[in-house]
Amino acid sequence: MAELTFHSPTTLAEAFDLMKTHGDDARLIAGGTALVVMMKQSLVVAEHLVSLRAIPGLDGVTLKGDALHIGALTRHRDVETSPVVREHLPFLADVYGRVATVRIRNSATVGGGLAHADPSQDPPAALMVLDARVRITSPRGDREVAVADLFRDYYETVLRPDELIAELIVPIPASTARTTYLKFLPRTEDDYATVAVAALAEVDGGVCRRLRVALIAAGPTPVHAEAVEQALEGKPVSAEAIRAAAALVADAVDPMDDFRGTADYKRDMAVVFTRRALEQVLGQAGS
Ligand SMILES: Cc1cc2nc3c(=O)[nH]c(=O)nc-3n(C[C@H](O)[C@H](O)[C@H](O)COP(=O)(O)OP(=O)(O)OC[C@H]3O[C@@H](n4cnc5c(N)ncnc54)[C@H](O)[C@@H]3O)c2cc1C
Repeated sequence: MAELTFHSPTTLAEAFDLMKTHGDDARLIAGGTALVVMMKQSLVVAEHLVSLRAIPGLDGVTLKGDALHIGALTRHRDVETSPVVREHLPFLADVYGRVATVRIRNSATVGGGLAHADPSQDPPAALMVLDARVRITSPRGDREVAVADLFRDYYETVLRPDELIAELIVPIPASTARTTYLKFLPRTEDDYATVAVAALAEVDGGVCRRLRVALIAAGPTPVHAEAVEQALEGKPVSAEAIRAAAALVADAVDPMDDFRGTADYKRDMAVVFTRRALEQVLGQAGS
């Protein structure tokens, strides 16, 4: 590892200055769970680490109107245990609670997780079905990007070099919406998924009024399964319709061979777990 200088700015302006001064030699660090591993493996080389931890106002969960605002520095464990999240969006608390071990969740931050952009990370699937967005800040001001549009490729986001994620904004779904997150874990409970599916649905009078489906560990970025949604939205719910719609996910995913399974196996499991997720949110479980 190259010699490192650790900076601990106490304002965003100071952090932006450090990033500008050190350019490609500098990296932001939040919980450090991903960055330190990448540095140890020489996948990332940095001479300056700019910590976000001492900057006030970047963590915590607040309810504003009909959305949860979660600061980028909020740790996974804090989302999982937050009384506000548990009361208004228990699904989100549960999904953050599915990440790795308590030890990792006690350090890993919401912003760091999203910026890391590993397509096997759990939260993006749930955040996509919830239509969540991030507020990105830079010396040029703020902009918002839907989580569905945040990822560009393996470990790559649309963040520009002078930008950082300031907060995550998660709209609270209708009280009638059903949600699920199915994480296929054939190895151990704290592993990354072989494949995982999040789904959200609103059903009225036996008709699917609204559907969101997203998968992780199924391609270079999290996958928004639009074809599945379009096949079912506005239509009567039936076991046959669900089965046919789930089959469409095979063309939407692009998994890689690795020690969690071959690409073909993961594609098959994407279909199986999508069907199970649809059965749960559309009220056909056990059909
Ligand atoms: C053993 C292990 C098991 C894991 N298992 C799982 C799992 O099962 N499921 C899962 O979802 N994840 C898993 N993870 C990944 C984990 O979720 C990420 O490591 C974590 O979320 C990264 O957050 P962090 O705060 O530690 O980021 P850091 O390591 O501090 O930073 C990660 C990247 O984001 C950048 N960054 C940090 N904060 C910001 C910001 N606010 N704005 C812009 N850029 C920023 C950094 O420069 C760096 O490039 C696992 C990790 C480990 C080490």
